[in-house]
Amino acid sequence: MKNLLKDFNEKDLKIFNHEFNNFLPKRIMDFHVHLWKKDFLNKDISEERQKANPFADPDIIDRFVFEDFETVANTLFPDKEYSGLFFGLPAKEVDLSKANKYVSDVCKDNGCHGLYIPEPGFDEIPDNFFGNGFVGFKPYPDLVDFETPSDFLKLDIDVSIFDFISKKVLEFSNEYGLILLIHIPRKGRLNDKRNIEELRKIGEKYKNIKVILAHAGRSYCYEDIRSGIQYIKNMENLYVDTAMINNFSVNKLLMEELGPERILYGSDLAVAALKGKNIDINNRHYFVTNTPKSWSLSSSEMNLDDFTFFIYEIIRAIKLASKELNLNKKQIEDIFYSNAHRIIKEISDKNSIFKK
Ligand SMILES: [Zn+2]
Repeated sequence: MKNLLKDFNEKDLKIFNHEFNNFLPKRIMDFHVHLWKKDFLNKDISEERQKANPFADPDIIDRFVFEDFETVANTLFPDKEYSGLFFGLPAKEVDLSKANKYVSDVCKDNGCHGLYIPEPGFDEIPDNFFGNGFVGFKPYPDLVDFETPSDFLKLDIDVSIFDFISKKVLEFSNEYGLILLIHIPRKGRLNDKRNIEELRKIGEKYKNIKVILAHAGRSYCYEDIRSGIQYIKNMENLYVDTAMINNFSVNKLLMEELGPERILYGSDLAVAALKGKNIDINNRHYFVTNTPKSWSLSSSEMNLDDFTFFIYEIIRAIKLASKELNLNKKQIEDIFYSNAHRIIKEISDKNSIFKK
C-alpha cells in the first residue's frame, strides 16, 4: 500500500483511546488479513478491474506485507496484542503458488497461521501443509473462469460454490477439521437460494469443516442477511467473520441469531487501513472514502477530513451492537479473540503430528 496510514492523526488516536481501548480485550485476533507483494502478479490488472476492485486500486495493489500489518497493528492498536490469520490476495492475476509460499514463510517466521488459497480445480495436497502454518483454505469465486461482462461494475459472479471449492478441498478439510473461509458468489448473496442450498449441503456432508462466511456472507446491508440467516443458523460449525461490515444492524442480527460464540472479528486489511465507511443506500452497499476513488462515493470538492479508518468503523459497529444487547466482557473477548484462538489452536494442536 502506498503511503500506509498517511492520514493517521491525533483524532484517530482519540477514537482509539476514548471508544476502543477499554472496550477491546488486551489480545485481538484479526481473522481476515490479506498479505501480498506486487511481484506476485503474473499479469496486469485490467483498467476495468482496477476501477471496480478496491484491492486493485493503484494506491493499494503495491504491497501489504507482514511488516505493514505490524505497522497497522502498532499504530492503530497501541497497547494491544494484535495478531492475525493471514492469506494471499485471491485474484486471477496473482500467482497463487507465490502468494501461498509468502504466507507460509510469514507463518513459520512469526509463529502464526494462515489459509491456503486453492485453485478451483485443486486436486493435490501440497507438501507439509500443516508444517507450513496452514489451518485451512480461502477459496475464491473470482478464480473461476467465467465470462466477464463488458461493464465490470455490473459483475455478478454467477458460479456455484462447488465451481471454486473442489472435492479435494472439502474432503481434506473434513478429514482434518479445517477452516473453510468462504466468500459466497452470486449477486443475491444469502438471498440466493442456490447459495443457501450449497452451504447447507457442505454443512450436512462435511460436518468436521469449520465453515466461516467471509463478510458474514458479504452482508454489508441488513437486507443481505435478514432472511437468509434463518436458513443457515442451525448449521453446526457455521461461523461468520466481520470483515468490512460497518453496519450495526447486521452485527446485532448476527449476535442474536448465531450468538457471540460464532462471530469472529476480521478486518479485510489492507483495504480496512483506508479512511472511509461502507454504507447501505436503498439496500445496496457502497464504499465511501475520504479521497475520491473510482470504486467509491466521494467528493473532490468537499473537505472530508473528519473520516476515520474502515477498521475503526468495523469495531464501532460491533461495539454499538454489543452495547445494545448488553454483551459481557467475556462475550466481547470471544468475538475479538477467544473464538479464533480456540479454532486455530484446536486445528494446529490436532495436526501437529503431521508437521515436518
Ligand atoms: Zn478479503
